[in-house]
Amino acid sequence: MKNYVNKELLEETLELKRQKNALVLAHYYVPSETQAAADFVCDSFEMAKRARSADKDLVVICGVSFMGESAKILSPQKKVLLPVPEATCPMADMVSPEQIADYRKLHPEAAVVCYVNSTAAVKAVSDICCTSASAEKVVGSLENKEIVFVPDQHLGSYVAEKFPDKTFYLHKGFCPRHHAVTEADVLKAKEAHPDCALAVHPECRTEVVKHADFVGSTSGIIDFAKKTDAPGVIICTENEITEILRRELPEKEIWPVKRSFICQNMKKVTLESLRDCLKYERYEVTLSDEEIAAAKAALDKMVKV
Ligand code: SF4
Repeated sequence: MKNYVNKELLEETLELKRQKNALVLAHYYVPSETQAAADFVCDSFEMAKRARSADKDLVVICGVSFMGESAKILSPQKKVLLPVPEATCPMADMVSPEQIADYRKLHPEAAVVCYVNSTAAVKAVSDICCTSASAEKVVGSLENKEIVFVPDQHLGSYVAEKFPDKTFYLHKGFCPRHHAVTEADVLKAKEAHPDCALAVHPECRTEVVKHADFVGSTSGIIDFAKKTDAPGVIICTENEITEILRRELPEKEIWPVKRSFICQNMKKVTLESLRDCLKYERYEVTLSDEEIAAAKAALDKMVKV
């Protein structure tokens, strides 16, 4: 059962959290039983900000590895742990600092805009970061007429459409889960639930996004589902969001665009792995001071915008 929680394991984990005075932050896409042990469930940048503002020196990031890095970049003096360091994001791994250097040689006038779903090493060589919620504002704040956008081609092309006066060079990265949703999947879901609004994450393909009633980040989609007057919502992002909304909005019809919309990497972060992480205080995120300073500069610029 999806909502099954091993109560004994949960109690043990919560007790360890208390003993260690740790802050536990979980991403929306990790399993619900892991979320049950968290202090906050949020998106990746919100996790990094909460890690920074918390009055605790031990922070556990239940998510994929770049999320632990982002928390460490904003809180270098804190001990940041990842329960499963081998849970990585395939999209973040699709661009390297060497490729950014090549883009800079090819397009010396361009600003390099880097989606936060990227490694610390890539953030460190980018001009500015963005989230899916802030991407449009970030690009709008830049005077450059040319933009190199990494790593997500779909978020990049969604933003590019809003700025016809700028030339975009889109890196060909993608989230394998969002990229796998086709226009046919969306049309089928709309036909099955004609009264429902469609909420789509901009990591999806353009031909999927064009059918959306709402396009936005995971937290944006949650907000939209709560506020819309439509009797129901088709959720076109990872299925854990569908589960969260079904629990929070029992009066609304909440449907996943397709059943197989599951990020397997996020699902590796189980409650058991969180318990062991707290118990053994493993696995610590380590970054060099230089990498932290350079990546922080790119993140700080986004925050200012
Ligand atoms: S859902 Fe996609 S972008 Fe998010 S962590 Fe999984 S693979 Fe990466």
